[in-house]
Amino acid sequence: MIIGCHVQMKAPKFLEGSVEEALSYKANALMLYTGAPQNTKRRDISELHIAQARELMKKNDIPMERMIIHAPYVINPANSVKPEVAELAVSMLSGELKRMEAIGARYLVLHPGSYTTTDLDTGINTIITRLNEVVVPGNIVICLETMAGKGSECGYRFEHLAHILENLNQQERYGVCFDTCHVNDAGYDLRCFDDVLNEFDRVIGLRHLHVVHLNDSKNALGARKDRHANIGEGTIGFDVLRAIAMDERLADVPKILETPYIDGQAPYGREIEMLRSGRYDPV
Ligand code: ZN
Ligand code: FE
Ligand code: FE
Repeated sequence: MIIGCHVQMKAPKFLEGSVEEALSYKANALMLYTGAPQNTKRRDISELHIAQARELMKKNDIPMERMIIHAPYVINPANSVKPEVAELAVSMLSGELKRMEAIGARYLVLHPGSYTTTDLDTGINTIITRLNEVVVPGNIVICLETMAGKGSECGYRFEHLAHILENLNQQERYGVCFDTCHVNDAGYDLRCFDDVLNEFDRVIGLRHLHVVHLNDSKNALGARKDRHANIGEGTIGFDVLRAIAMDERLADVPKILETPYIDGQAPYGREIEMLRSGRYDPV
């Protein structure tokens, strides 16, 4: 099972510390923000301990493409009300891609964005326009995340993402990240996961799926909310999430936990162990 979680990147060891944190949970994949998720202030790449991090990944037989990067969520390429916000999204994204090239990471998870005060179609068309202004270098793949549909979020139906992907100039440089909490909150019933995955395959194509965010949800099916719960503690439940983690069609796709800390402690070591063993150990 390729499974990991969101890890921190902080002084003094930065990326090397991120890999150490993932290893401490017995993870064989990881996801991190290259700085604070809510802003775009970033350290110089020379400070990030890239060589040491790569060495540690290699020593533990974890391919570099399993070090997944999440774009800061202030990037909003769907905003056409304030063009400066969408333009900023393009420059921020370009900076993130440069850092990824230096790190040697492959997959960048990106929230498609929120249309704010316009409408869904305008938002989706704005995303297409803005992403087409970005040049994605090397073999990097930007994975648009399935969203819950909270507020004015775009990308909560597979059709939205399919439409965006079909209209990008660099189609081979884009894919999708499937977030179980968001998909549940958007109204797809994961108890019938086969049907949901077939639907994904029909609308988007399974070959475009590169990352799964494995989270339980604090809200009911279709609530359009986006609040992650610990594995087994939410409305999706342990058995359904375990079945998703074990699905043969997703065997090569890293599953990344973004579940909340419990009493200031990361829950990931325990949750990874539960998902591997199939033994649910309630909080
Ligand atoms: Zn995300
Ligand atoms: Fe997510
Ligand atoms: Fe979320």
